[in-house]
Amino acid sequence: MLLIPEPYAPIEEIKLQLYHHAGIKVFLKREDLSHPFISGNKWRKLKYHLLEAHKLQAELLITFGGPYSNHILATAAAGAKYGFKTIGIIRGEEVNNPVLNLAQTFGMQLTFTSRSSYKEYINGNPLPESILVRPEKKYSIPEGGGGAIGEQGITEMVDNWTYTDIICSVGTGSTLKGLINGMIQQNNPGKVHGIVVLKGAENMKDAFTGFPVHRYQLHFDYHEGGYGKSNPELMQFIQAFASETGILLDQVYEGKMIKALHNLIEKGFFPKGSSILALHNGGLTGLLSQL
Ligand SMILES: *Cc1c(COP(=O)(O)O)cnc(C)c1O
Repeated sequence: MLLIPEPYAPIEEIKLQLYHHAGIKVFLKREDLSHPFISGNKWRKLKYHLLEAHKLQAELLITFGGPYSNHILATAAAGAKYGFKTIGIIRGEEVNNPVLNLAQTFGMQLTFTSRSSYKEYINGNPLPESILVRPEKKYSIPEGGGGAIGEQGITEMVDNWTYTDIICSVGTGSTLKGLINGMIQQNNPGKVHGIVVLKGAENMKDAFTGFPVHRYQLHFDYHEGGYGKSNPELMQFIQAFASETGILLDQVYEGKMIKALHNLIEKGFFPKGSSILALHNGGLTGLLSQL
């Protein structure tokens, strides 16, 4: 049996004038504290993949991501921790950066691939021959660690929460999906908000049509220029938030999410008396792309 413990991820109230003036309370679920590199939702999503791989007696984990992917680094670190070899198939031309160096430090073997081949691989077409010939039993984890297996780890995180609203950032959307599922399973009436960090991703709506509309809301106006894009205003926001709270946010996901939350509060979107739980899913190595 592979034993994966419950991560350390406490809920803290954040006290800022903005919240006080609006008459609302804001809490942060510190999933960023669970592990420096297997952080946040990546840890949650990997959990059932690791258990499944172990059950199938796989020895080699294969997964996919961009050159600054939090999921790639999380898989490398988790693979090393739980006794799997790992291969990361990286989108785009060969590059060298601190995130990929860390992944290699955890023993991950990297295979760079053109954007077009990458697309084929993540859609389930056969992997490169050099990987197929490997003698070990293999287990593939989807890009971002999602799918039904990955989402299970998010769903089980939902506790007897008493918040009126839950808010998280949205990349692939599997964290949001897992959250909505968890809230529904627990008959928890709180509404889940997803801040989409990709530009022009409105068709993501289609992936959520199975859920009752009053359960969730997608927000598309807070991508700050698109996935992985940042700007001086966003970086300033992150700096101000860090200096006021002692909590660091990355610029790819959680900086955009908390900035969006502040904008929504300023607009009066949340009624007085609201109590909001925001998920901090870590990803702080994303800041390395800014150095
Ligand atoms: C991957 C990631 C997300 C996005 O999660 P999805 O399930 O892909 O929507 C959000 N925040 C951080 C820090 C991440 O690493």
